[in-house]
Amino acid sequence: MRVFRIPMRTRFRGQTVREGVLIEGPSGWGEFSPFPEYGPAECARWLACAREAAFDGWPPPVRAHIPVNVTVPAVGPAEAFELVRAAGCATAKVKVAERGQSFADDMARVEAVRDALGLAGKIRVDANGAWGVDEAAVRIKELDRFGLEYAEQPCATLAELAEVRRKVDVPVAADESIRRAEDPLRVRAAEAADIAVVKVQPLGGVRAALRVVEACGLPAVVSSAVETSIGLAAGVALAAALPDLPYACGLGTMTLLTGDVVADSLRPVAGAIAVRRPTVAPEELARFEIDSPDWIRRMEEAGGMGR
Ligand SMILES: [Mg+2]
Repeated sequence: MRVFRIPMRTRFRGQTVREGVLIEGPSGWGEFSPFPEYGPAECARWLACAREAAFDGWPPPVRAHIPVNVTVPAVGPAEAFELVRAAGCATAKVKVAERGQSFADDMARVEAVRDALGLAGKIRVDANGAWGVDEAAVRIKELDRFGLEYAEQPCATLAELAEVRRKVDVPVAADESIRRAEDPLRVRAAEAADIAVVKVQPLGGVRAALRVVEACGLPAVVSSAVETSIGLAAGVALAAALPDLPYACGLGTMTLLTGDVVADSLRPVAGAIAVRRPTVAPEELARFEIDSPDWIRRMEEAGGMGR
């Protein structure tokens, strides 16, 4: 068990570092990196994902490459254009409804992204639940002038998402509404979304996530929890094993960290991540390893490594 602490390039979820535990088992390395606010019950699922990686391995892939989106934060149009051009992805996820910004800022950003992608590219917008129902309906229709693939979490609650979904033609994706294994089924029951954004650690591993996606019946977009390449590999394995993968995934997040624990990071090339499983490189891990009884305790409280 090795504890890591990697500074992030930009603040994410109020965090400036990403921490977690790497565990090695007969099947390889696994990552346990729940966010600080999660308690033992929630953490147990994240740990199940790490245990699966270390002890059980993953189901066989049905595809060799996972298309991913470039993520465009709430930057100005010129920066957004350059970011998308440099990334080489055919799909862009654009942050909208940022606090302190105007809707004109969103329109300018999305227009710049459309210019950078060309007409063949796909644009999804992510409001992180910031809009009310009527506002979302108006905004989505306006932004759809540039052609939207879907709108991610336009409002906070399932009831609101369901209402927005009835008001607009653009498909709606649920992200923040899906944090636990039972959530996708709730989304489906509420008819709150057309697409489920799923993350492999909170759902308890690749097999558990495959079962959840199947039961939910909605097309899935696999997203990361901003893991190292060890944790990302589990998300890649999930995306690789899903029977259908109609949308680009949100797994191109290694750029958010200032370093990695492997030598050959899971970074997208030409808009896709190759399906493979990197291993911990001691010299890379050495740059970020910390001594942390707190993390070992956190893991034990989540159920530990006992099988
Ligand atoms: Mg999101």
